[in-house]
Amino acid sequence: MSKKNNNFPIVGVIISLVVAFVITFLGTNDVFGEQKIPMESYRVYLKGESIGLIKSESELYDYINKMQQSLKEKYNVDNVYIPNDINVVKDVTYEENLTTISNIYNIINEKSPFTIKGYMVTIDKTNTTNYVDDAQVESDEKDDSNEPKILFLNILDKEMFENAVKKTILSFVTEEEYENFINETQKSIVTTGEIIEDLYVEDVVTIKEAYLPVNEKIYTSEEELTAHLLFGSEQNMSSYRVKKGDTLNEVAEANKMNVNEILIANSNLRTSNALLYEGQELTIGVLDPVFTTVEEKHVVADQTIAYKTEYVYDNTKLVGYQAVQTQGSNGITRITQKIKSVNGEIVTALISSQEEIKPVVNEVIVKGGRKPVIATAGNWTWPTNIPYIISSHYGWRWGTLHRGLDISGTGYGSPIYAAKPGVVTEVNYHYLSGNYVVINHQNGYYTRYAHMSRLSPYVKVGDYVTAGQTIGDMGSSGRSNGTHLHFELWYGKPYASGSQCYNPLLFY
Ligand SMILES: [Zn+2]
Repeated sequence: MSKKNNNFPIVGVIISLVVAFVITFLGTNDVFGEQKIPMESYRVYLKGESIGLIKSESELYDYINKMQQSLKEKYNVDNVYIPNDINVVKDVTYEENLTTISNIYNIINEKSPFTIKGYMVTIDKTNTTNYVDDAQVESDEKDDSNEPKILFLNILDKEMFENAVKKTILSFVTEEEYENFINETQKSIVTTGEIIEDLYVEDVVTIKEAYLPVNEKIYTSEEELTAHLLFGSEQNMSSYRVKKGDTLNEVAEANKMNVNEILIANSNLRTSNALLYEGQELTIGVLDPVFTTVEEKHVVADQTIAYKTEYVYDNTKLVGYQAVQTQGSNGITRITQKIKSVNGEIVTALISSQEEIKPVVNEVIVKGGRKPVIATAGNWTWPTNIPYIISSHYGWRWGTLHRGLDISGTGYGSPIYAAKPGVVTEVNYHYLSGNYVVINHQNGYYTRYAHMSRLSPYVKVGDYVTAGQTIGDMGSSGRSNGTHLHFELWYGKPYASGSQCYNPLLFY
């Protein structure tokens, strides 16, 4: 018995060694991977929540240090703050449950990112006027009604931000105008000229110190921030390499921009007469300013009133006879205007007073012939009273083709005239164009007159109108910022496929 008793433990040890060997063997062999050796590990908690298991605590801290260091270099700051609620607790697990240090870092970066000290800018547009762009007449391609009312920007440096804001404003007024306005050194108007009465950003902008999360965009360069303030975040700005013979106009047109927008995007080009050279790189991008920069101007300018030529037929003279009876001469009217511009585009323009400096004298030519009529020569009739202000030209602006000419200044309710004889084909209301009239001039051309104050009481569909006949009253109906006529000239029915719209000024 005693022998057996002595031997038994030895057998037991041998058996347990064998078992241990088998377990070890199985444990290292994936084919039989059901049994595993648990190993020492570390469980990482963020804000009390487990985010994973890692093999080494010190590797995590080394990695965090390394990331801190590279962030310090990236932003050129002394301190990068890590979340103070990271906890690491010893644990036991199987190797396959372990995750990598970079994985853990990514989770931390997503849930509670490292921060640096800087400033958060809040741009509140809740009470900003909703300035609309009537280039969108008949097209909903850029509906901005869902744009956020409150925007945030992370910036590293206050002074950099102030400089970028100033640069943004200087895209819409010259540096000289800006300095003179700020320092109250504007020259008063003696005869003609202009004075900035007010210049401001209409949005409510606040800056406060903040810990900025590094997984968000943080602006560190003045140039990048200025570009963002002018072109918005979604804008993909691209560049264009100037080809031999390119003009600024052509480059603008080809890129769906107007010349002013090209100048704003390329501050090295000072004026629209700037010469381009072959190979020059130009920045291309559609303006979508973050701020609402408002400028209110008082302008006194002389407008030339072109004389008309009248023909008087004299039956006592032979056909073919022609003599100038009265020499024509252009008149000059001095007009005082109140112009309000938002981000460089006129939104309202009013003529507050006018004074005749020199009267216009129409030319009278006597022609021999039998027709005892007096006919007014000349081309298309101007569709509004004179003087007027062109508040927006035909062409590209803010990425949309403005298919007409905006004429302002003659006042709410002032008459709108047919530009040529023709037949009225539409008297209607559209939520973008407002009350409008279309005339078919029966020579291929059509004209369209939008934003009238009321549905025209003067004409109805099918009416024949003469050039200069009143067809409506100027207003601001539909999508419009202020009283103006949006005047379109088409070859073919407006907005029909195959029709072509033209800059009306080409016809005057
Ligand atoms: Zn317009």
